[in-house]
This record gives sequence, structure tokens and C-alpha cells, in this order.
Amino acid sequence: MLISFEGIDGSGKSTNIRNLCQYLEEKGYDVQVFREPGGTVLSEQIREILLNSDEDIHPIAESLLFSAARAQLVATRIRPALAEGTIVIVDRFFDSTTAYQGYGREVIPVWQIDQLNDLATQQLEPDITFYLRLPPEEAQRRRAREGSEDRLERSGEKFFERVSKGFDQLAAEKERIITLDSTQPVEILTEQIVSHLRPKLDR
Ligand code: C5P
Repeated sequence: MLISFEGIDGSGKSTNIRNLCQYLEEKGYDVQVFREPGGTVLSEQIREILLNSDEDIHPIAESLLFSAARAQLVATRIRPALAEGTIVIVDRFFDSTTAYQGYGREVIPVWQIDQLNDLATQQLEPDITFYLRLPPEEAQRRRAREGSEDRLERSGEKFFERVSKGFDQLAAEKERIITLDSTQPVEILTEQIVSHLRPKLDR
């Protein structure tokens, strides 16, 4: 089973993934967690470029870099793990490219991003996606509290509003996407995540 977590920066993906992973491991499942971009040597190198490049990265180049990182991760890590029956959790997947590079950057039309996503994943779709929804102002406050923003997080308020609307749009369109109110306490969120997953689990 492939589970993805989505949301704007500061929406609490890492904490919720940690809790879910612990829950599943306690149930005796093999679980692997990957972050995007990243999760393989090449994909981590691409992440480094995306986050720290001194040169402005053009939105088309940016989309291709995210997609290259994803293609490598899917082919070399995610598919083999799924084939062994491991539960794979990804911290971001192609919905992020639709929201950030599509709705956020407003350079590549969404239909073309969809094609790029299909190419990178070879049509691998998550079985379920948890969208941790947080108002962009609140996410900005959380990021400021944590300090040190990366290159991509300095993209500005308007950008994050568009990304956020993009995620809302995707969640409205796709049945596999479960929207969770990320202003709630994390224990409540974990319970909600587990209750959505339970029908898909056999333990
Ligand atoms: O989620 P995480 O903080 O690891 O993402 C790393 C950075 O990449 C963040 O700044 C996020 O906004 C950015 N990103 C992006 N487009 C994506 C995925 C992530 O701009 N498709």
C-alpha cells in the first residue's frame, strides 16, 4: 500500500508521518518512509540543488528536477518495496508538483503537469492521500517560529496562497485525497488518519 502526505510547508506532515509509522510498526507491518524530493542518492542530490541553488531555477527546469527525483525514487525504491508487501509512506508525491509547480508557479498548465507526473511515476498512484490543510498565514507563522527557510520557502505569500488553493482543488477532485484540519492537536489527527486507514488494513 502506498500512502502519501501532502500540504504546504509547516502543515505538520513529518510529525503525523512519524506517528502513523509508529502505529503501523506496532501492528507488525513493514513500513518504509521516503521524503520528496529525496529518498535515493540521486534524488537527495537533486533535492540539494532545488533547495540551495544560487541560480534562479526556471519553473520548467524546476518541474523537471522534481520529476527526475521522483522517477528515480519510484523506480528504484518505492516499486520494489511495494512488491515485497511493505507499506510505503511518502512525505509528498506528485500532488505537490501539481500544487507547487502547476498552481503555484503558473507557468506550466495543469494538464501538462499531469502528463509529467504520469511519466515520472509510470502511473503509480497512492492508495490514499492525507492532505493536512492549514491556512497559509498559520503555516507561515509556524515556519517563522522554526526559523531557517530554504530557497523554495522564500517564494512569498501569494505563491503559498496559490499552492494552498491548488491542494484544495485537487482534494475536491480526487476521491483518494482525505482532507484533515491540521490546526487540530496532533493526537486527534493521528486518530483520524488511523480511522481512515483501518478499513484498508488486515491487522
Ligand atoms: O516538504 P519539504 O519541506 O521537505 O519540501 C522541501 C521544499 O521543496 C519545500 O520548500 C517545498 O515548498 C518545496 N517543494 C516544492 N515543490 C514540490 C515539492 C516541494 O517547491 N513539488
